Amino acid sequence: MITGQNFIGKSPASTGSKNLTSYNPASGEAFKEVFVEATEKEVNEAVDLAVKAFKAYRKKSSTERANFLRAIAKNIMDLDHVLVERAMAETALPEGRIQGERGRTCNQLNAFADIIEEGSWVNARIDTAIPDRQPIPKPDLRKMEMPIGPIAVFGASNFPLAFSTAGGDTASALAAGNPVIVKGHESHLGTNELVSRAILKAAEETGMPDGVFSMVNGGISVGQQLVKDERIKAVGFTGSFRGGRALMDSAAARKNPIPVYAEMGSTNPVIAFPEKLTQEAAVLAQTLASSVTLGVGQFCTSPGLLLAIKSDALDAFKAELATALSSTPKGVMLNESIGKSYERTGNEVRNHQTVTSSSEKIEAGAAATVSVSGADFMANPELHHEVFGPFIIVVECADQSELPQVVDALDGQLTGSILATDSDLVNYEEVINSLREKVGRIIYNGMPTGVEVCPAMHHGGPYPSSSNGRYTSVGYDAITRFTRPVAFQSWPNSVLPEELKDSNPKGISRLINGELTNKAIE
Ligand code: NAP
Repeated sequence: MITGQNFIGKSPASTGSKNLTSYNPASGEAFKEVFVEATEKEVNEAVDLAVKAFKAYRKKSSTERANFLRAIAKNIMDLDHVLVERAMAETALPEGRIQGERGRTCNQLNAFADIIEEGSWVNARIDTAIPDRQPIPKPDLRKMEMPIGPIAVFGASNFPLAFSTAGGDTASALAAGNPVIVKGHESHLGTNELVSRAILKAAEETGMPDGVFSMVNGGISVGQQLVKDERIKAVGFTGSFRGGRALMDSAAARKNPIPVYAEMGSTNPVIAFPEKLTQEAAVLAQTLASSVTLGVGQFCTSPGLLLAIKSDALDAFKAELATALSSTPKGVMLNESIGKSYERTGNEVRNHQTVTSSSEKIEAGAAATVSVSGADFMANPELHHEVFGPFIIVVECADQSELPQVVDALDGQLTGSILATDSDLVNYEEVINSLREKVGRIIYNGMPTGVEVCPAMHHGGPYPSSSNGRYTSVGYDAITRFTRPVAFQSWPNSVLPEELKDSNPKGISRLINGELTNKAIE
């Protein structure tokens, strides 16, 4: 059942007077429920409770936390068609996509459960004492990752499940041992409430402390209050550059600044090298068009830039791409504001004096491509920003020497893709190396859309695509955003965390005096 209330820990709360409404973007109709914005007092209470919960939650064993995560996944699946239908109605995303995203969300929760239960993720390092070392004795030092405290999570509009209420940020923060307060996204308020209830039910079933999870609805002021609260220790965010940067600035201005792990915009450049383009222009154009239009272009990894050197093959490729995009049926965008933003930013680029376009005026949900010369692209940084939607700029470089200059002019990106033959790889080695400097993930003969959840994934690029390109928001390493290392010096074994005890009761991998091993210390 959806009531429109906030959850301060397990207690529903709706004392505020400001209301929010959820809309069906396909029909424009409002849902019947009234969602109540959390008051300042309620947000404050959620943080109070999270601080108290942290003291109890950090004492829970990794198996207890793993059971909590698995129970969340089960409760999400148990919501069955109620959740799928609500998420579809609030986002206009098709059933297959929502079901896939639900599977991914639960797989992430279960994967983090497995990781913490196994235990090696804490990156334990042990340097045993050398009491008779000259000139001074060496102390016993043991280091591991530990939780940091209450985390604020901002759900994303474009992934109502996998990057939202119980998405990767929440799953990794809870797995590490931190309480979470979610600021629900206004674009899918009902979905957010259903998932929040699944999390709270799991907390109850597995004996987690009240306040391990809270959810507050509201606008910018609610989000800002959370980030400015000195008791919040880190922030997870996926969304616009403007939103992410505002949160980074607020966090940096605090008495005690905290990290904001923001995954923001990216144009995900694709470079089509000459020999590959000559050999496969039509196929590449079709493949690129499918990636540009996937999910109505509303992916952080959607390709928004194609770089190539002027040639007849490029002309053929552009014609094929334009035809493929214009014949793709217009889609419904996630919400009215994203649709309007697509029209505004897309038309600003289309109408730019240096840009040529065969597309009519750009409309919400309609795919489009435009082109610009390499020199004009470099001279006009306003063309470098993400147009969130099914839109791609083809940058035509005058010659082989202009291509690396264009790559050097790019901002930091989540991904970069190269379409190349073996000889292109050799001939353009330096350009490829330059692209690698700009991105978090570099793809060979493939498209950037589709982000696998696995240990080797890195989803985070140099600024401004992410606030800190050293961290990933997808994959197992996402957990280290919400931990910090603590070194224990000369501590008695009996009171050390299990992971650092001589006997290694969990049998985890540890770096002991420089050797990676899962053995106990004799
Ligand atoms: P958004 O505007 O950045 O909002 C994301 C969340 O952050 C929302 O809960 C929003 O609250 C909050 N927020 C935004 N600005 C804030 C501020 N100054 N202080 C505190 N909280 C703030 O993103 P969106 O609504 O999902 O989509 C808008 C645009 O973001 C899109 O058109 C697109 O350009 C971009 N986007 C990019 C990605 C990506 O993966 N790169 C994903 C989604 C969206 P409110 O709901 O109250 O505004």
